[in-house]
Amino acid sequence: MTTPCLYGRRGIVTGAASGIGAAATRRLRADGAEVLTADLTGDVDLLLDVTDPDSARQLVEQAVARWGGLDFVVPCAGISAFCPIEGHDEAYFERVLAVNVTAVFRLLREAIGPLKRSTAGRIVTIGSIASAFGDAGLVAYATSKHAVLGMTRALAGELGAAGVTANCVMPGAIDTPMTAPAFTTMPEYRVHWENKAALGRLGQPEDIADVIAFLISDDARFITGQGLLVDGGAMTRM
Ligand code: NAD
Repeated sequence: MTTPCLYGRRGIVTGAASGIGAAATRRLRADGAEVLTADLTGDVDLLLDVTDPDSARQLVEQAVARWGGLDFVVPCAGISAFCPIEGHDEAYFERVLAVNVTAVFRLLREAIGPLKRSTAGRIVTIGSIASAFGDAGLVAYATSKHAVLGMTRALAGELGAAGVTANCVMPGAIDTPMTAPAFTTMPEYRVHWENKAALGRLGQPEDIADVIAFLISDDARFITGQGLLVDGGAMTRM
């Protein structure tokens, strides 16, 4: 059962066409929030590429024009990357950072003014277990997700005086279109992550969406600067 505790809250979710962003949008709307959705593709309010330098301004302008203010931002658009460093193409490395880091920075920078004017400004970034740990083949992705956690912590310090919180949700292995190709072509990889989680299963997008909604809600008003692992206990195990 959902608790409708976000009436009157207005915010932006990027990467909203799929996976975690789509589930977050459903959950936030179910709780009464108004959400402006953006993605490269799919059923969203705005089709845009978050790496387009103008896209952040467009998004925030549209939100403020629509509602007269902005209360939360969830930059969920992201790409994964698996590539050992020896074969790593520099353009690919830069692309991962452009989507997962620079686009997040641009959107948050653009949104800061309206968020400060909100009575409950909230930033919820999407990190990963790769914000805290690394693994073979994850050079670009782990670099990007460590950066997102660092950005979030720095913003929490910078924006606290204005009453804006900034937290980073760090999902474990979640069953979404991002992970589907790897889990389909390497069933043993899926089983590895199911077994690694103390709870014995992959995460579902809703497992993350519910935490995002919590961090936007009043219940989370005194939480800021945190990176919250939501991984079914995978990282508690050897
Ligand atoms: P997904 O592929 O289902 O969704 C990502 C969405 O981002 C897609 O709809 C895609 O079109 C959009 N997107 C990608 N590049 C974009 C761009 N340049 N401009 C606009 N939109 C763009 O993946 P997901 O699993 O839902 O991932 C969402 C976030 O969660 C990502 O930041 C990802 O790194 C993070 N994450 C996922 C997992 C997992 O196991 N699935 C684990 C940890 C973190």
